Amino acid sequence: MEKTADASTFKLHNGDRVGIVGGGPAGSFFAMHLLEYAAAENLSLTVTIFEYRDFGQSGPAGCAKCAGLLSAGLQSNLRRFGLRLPPEVVQSKADSYVLHLAEQEVEIFPPLPHREIVSVYRGSGPRAAAARPSINFDYWLLRQAEKAGATIVKAMVKQITFTPEKAIVSTNFEHHPFELVVLAAGVNGRRVALEGDTYHPPETAQMIQDELGGYPGNNRRVHVHFGRKHGVVFGATVPKGAYVNVSLLAKNPSLKTIADFLTEAGIPEDYQRLCGCKPHIPVSAAKKFYGNRFVAVGDAAASRLYKDGIGSAFHTAEKAAHTAIFHGIAAADFKRQYAPLCRRIARDNFWGKFLFFLWEITGNSRALTRLWLLALTTKSTHPFEARICRLALWNMFTGDDSYEHILRSLLHPRVVWFLLSHIWGVWRRPTVPHSTPTRK
Ligand SMILES: Cc1cc2nc3c(=O)[nH]c(=O)nc-3n(C[C@H](O)[C@H](O)[C@H](O)COP(=O)(O)OP(=O)(O)OC[C@H]3O[C@@H](n4cnc5c(N)ncnc54)[C@H](O)[C@@H]3O)c2cc1C
Repeated sequence: MEKTADASTFKLHNGDRVGIVGGGPAGSFFAMHLLEYAAAENLSLTVTIFEYRDFGQSGPAGCAKCAGLLSAGLQSNLRRFGLRLPPEVVQSKADSYVLHLAEQEVEIFPPLPHREIVSVYRGSGPRAAAARPSINFDYWLLRQAEKAGATIVKAMVKQITFTPEKAIVSTNFEHHPFELVVLAAGVNGRRVALEGDTYHPPETAQMIQDELGGYPGNNRRVHVHFGRKHGVVFGATVPKGAYVNVSLLAKNPSLKTIADFLTEAGIPEDYQRLCGCKPHIPVSAAKKFYGNRFVAVGDAAASRLYKDGIGSAFHTAEKAAHTAIFHGIAAADFKRQYAPLCRRIARDNFWGKFLFFLWEITGNSRALTRLWLLALTTKSTHPFEARICRLALWNMFTGDDSYEHILRSLLHPRVVWFLLSHIWGVWRRPTVPHSTPTRK
């Protein structure tokens, strides 16, 4: 793919064609950002998005297999970008997270007003559900990309090949030449063959997910479970209109089903299982995610560990599109302008892994569990320490802040002193402190 080129070879010109493989959030965001930046530069481009998913089909076939929480940060980015989420896309609004740790519950509220989290469907709803969303998030976003000027081709891309002047996208029946190709295929689709093994996808972990009907409880809370037995890293229940999504990251997925997990969490078995899947989630960044006339965005490049993947799709798509319009489409341009963002995400994920590791240890240790519950529930005697610990958890669950900032906040001398000065006491005390009463 390397070649000696004059300065204009790896620039986009009037009439150039850009092909995007994947019409999930990253593909749609890339198209919209690219077309907006191109318009600002009086550049006329032809943008084509290849997407094979049938959005009209319920169950996993039409779905992006995701819990569907939109972070407050993503919602404000959508507004900044002029995108208004239609009310019918939103399934539920969650205004608190309930942490379940060692049979105790602690309810955590947003630190600021308007940091509400909303849930959406990424497809046409659970396979066996009576009620279907009238419109889902991915379909709506793809239509926004179409309105912005992109053409949608319903086809599965098999291969991308490169010549010095073009990048060629091949489906089963056709070959489409482009000046720039963008890989936005996530980590759950059919692997696209890239000529010359230029791209190495991210490493992934497998999750387990079910959609349930008749599930008990308030539908304005997300429940997060840590410290359960059988190697569960975390589990979460997310309200989605009439239903609930339950997702689980287990160390060994074959050992665990959602039903086992819920039984262990004390949920009575009178819910109905409407749908289920075992999707992958990236746990590292991709390698060689850019080249001449090629860049990957969203999950296919780099995404925040376990949190706000759609927010990462927004940021990576925006930066890659900015690079393509204002700097160029050579490997060197993406390396200089775009790769630092992906490296920042990957570096932050390192701290994220550390935080999740600490949580796992906490969940498995009675003394540490007691210590954490104490820190979270001593609002009257230690308001500062309780506020920092609650804020750290809120940000960790919602993806509202970087993992590095979260860790730094927990290293505040007053928090460290609080934890050190109480460790001996909780070690000797046989019971966990009472949880805070939950707000109904
Ligand atoms: C269990 C689970 C729960 C999650 N929960 C959340 C959450 O609550 N909030 C959040 O922000 N993130 C969540 N994520 C992460 C989120 O799903 C991803 O980060 C996000 O979808 C990435 O967007 P993307 O566009 O890069 O990839 P995707 O959403 O995977 O989109 C890729 C698109 O490309 C298409 N495609 C793939 N291959 C081809 C091909 N060969 N040809 C044509 N089209 C192709 C696919 O059909 C798909 O539409 C979760 C992930 C998992 C696994």
